[in-house]
Amino acid sequence: MHKKLFIPGPVDVLPEVLERMATPMIGHRSKEASALQRSISEKMMKLMYTQNQIMLSTTSGTGLMEGAIRSCTRKRAAVFSVGAFGKRWYELATGNQVPADLFESEPGHPTTPERVDAALATGKYDLVTITHNETSTGLMNAAVDLAEVIRRYPEVVFAMDTVSSLGGTKIEVDALGVDICITSTQKALGLPPGLAICSFSEKAVAAARQVEHRGYYLDLLSLYDYIQKKDHQYPSTPSLSHMYALDYQLDRIFEEGPENRFSRHKEMADLVQTWAEENFALFPQKPFASHTLTTIRNTREINIGDLNKRLGEKGYAISNGYGNLKEKTFRIAHMADRTVDEVKELLQVIESILP
Ligand SMILES: *Cc1c(COP(=O)(O)O)cnc(C)c1O
Repeated sequence: MHKKLFIPGPVDVLPEVLERMATPMIGHRSKEASALQRSISEKMMKLMYTQNQIMLSTTSGTGLMEGAIRSCTRKRAAVFSVGAFGKRWYELATGNQVPADLFESEPGHPTTPERVDAALATGKYDLVTITHNETSTGLMNAAVDLAEVIRRYPEVVFAMDTVSSLGGTKIEVDALGVDICITSTQKALGLPPGLAICSFSEKAVAAARQVEHRGYYLDLLSLYDYIQKKDHQYPSTPSLSHMYALDYQLDRIFEEGPENRFSRHKEMADLVQTWAEENFALFPQKPFASHTLTTIRNTREINIGDLNKRLGEKGYAISNGYGNLKEKTFRIAHMADRTVDEVKELLQVIESILP
């Protein structure tokens, strides 16, 4: 039996979107391939509210995070972390010999504008990384407030991880001044895993031109130059199957209407978060609770493995906590094409199982 997924990626993919993955192949150097890539770019630009170049990578989101920090850090990166995925930026930096400093928040607390300001004011950094939506702690940072501070440092390249939020909440890339905004397909966009997407600003391009060793496959400047010169084609063979599915799913997203989609996510989040507060407690500070997933503090010390096993028998899957929060929290994702009714149904089933 297929379990209905309420885990924070991969998410369930609608059958008609999955079917697009089975579209017959075309040559990746053909006019049709250019057209497909242009079509995706135009739609992604709309969904990301940006005029910047859209770039695809046949990797998961981590691939573009690695490419971004390596390709665009000239001096030193300031990595702001609110959990496991924030810390991943730091690991990517050290693994690539990119000088970086890690600024961690207390679990459940956001990255504060004051802290970012204090770090950037030292003049030591020329790239900053922010996790928009931290999937371990269920925390969504206040991007607008952070962007306001980062804007005061024009030499700093602003890279933001929106892997688990883009497509589920409004992220206005150009208004925020994000230079590299990264997401991947298997979360709020509602596609199978295996493709990552980013926007790449002129400032990011100029920064990368000053970096000598940018790697090869994940060299974002070579991707950018190739797309520009070869009419949206890629240096190596991209996952055309994902691209067919993405192009179609973006049509579906615009059919629903981005604003409607964002409100649906907010409505699902409000339902789960109200339920969580009545039955347990929220893990993140309430104003920063994510719109795409909820991390719940296991205040009743239930056995989460057992709960998930019994949910599985009834055809549902949720997630335990991430890393050292494994037994202390559990997570319910409400993203992509999940509906308000499905969320209500899940909460009822959980209640019927809980002691
Ligand atoms: C899932 C996730 C990642 C990692 O993305 P992959 O596509 O699995 O590489 C990074 N950041 C956040 C916030 C995530 O939720």
